[in-house]
Amino acid sequence: MADFKTHVAVAAGGTGLLASVAMSVGVVSSTQASVLWLAGIMGGLLPDIDSDSSRSVHWIFSLIATLVALAFLADGMGHLPILMNWLLAIAIWVMIRFPLLEIFKSFTVHRGLLHSLLANGFFTLVVVVLADRYFGYSAAMSWACGAFVLIGAMIHLLLDELYSVDLEGARIKRSFGTAIKITDWDQPMLSGLMLGFTVALFWFSPAFKPFAHLVSKGVQRCQVSCHLMPPSGFDVANILPALEQWFHSLIRIVGL
Ligand SMILES: [Zn+2]
Repeated sequence: MADFKTHVAVAAGGTGLLASVAMSVGVVSSTQASVLWLAGIMGGLLPDIDSDSSRSVHWIFSLIATLVALAFLADGMGHLPILMNWLLAIAIWVMIRFPLLEIFKSFTVHRGLLHSLLANGFFTLVVVVLADRYFGYSAAMSWACGAFVLIGAMIHLLLDELYSVDLEGARIKRSFGTAIKITDWDQPMLSGLMLGFTVALFWFSPAFKPFAHLVSKGVQRCQVSCHLMPPSGFDVANILPALEQWFHSLIRIVGL
């Protein structure tokens, strides 16, 4: 099993690269790319929120507590006296971060239902619906947030599976095959409930088509402007100009 730092680093690297490519081909703004990157990092932490000792669960609950408290603060502006508004927002933050987190911990088993492909789909759709209904993002951007959470969460499961293979000793650890699973078959009732919620969330999610258009536009622009391989092949005479062109593309991708 990969540790917290590895999960953050690989999810941040993978989704950061993707977000920077999307920004460099002009399908998202720099602010949107930052939001997508954060969504990708969050996705990379989500499968371990069922581990009571992992830092992921504390990070995720701190983030949720902050978002809910800020929303409450914004809602109360103008209706409640400032001091009371602040005290209530702090009380909400503390409630989510401590008692609610402890209740959550007592109900979850590490590498159980939340560490599965079904849960990744569930997290994705929760984010799509929240981005659409709560943050008021466009349909394309809401699905993009969900897609980045999914990519981050899939990177997490893959990393855990890779870490269960001891490459040096060429042996397979006992945890092999437990990281990537469709669902936790030992919990059929909860799995069914999660599947039901996932289908319901899909029902509430915005149209998918604008996101599909955005992706195809991004891919088309990428084919025109991002050459990861020299377009003229590996002819020795062409290597230097091709390298120069590739270098310029790379600079464009990282936004320098
Ligand atoms: Zn894990």
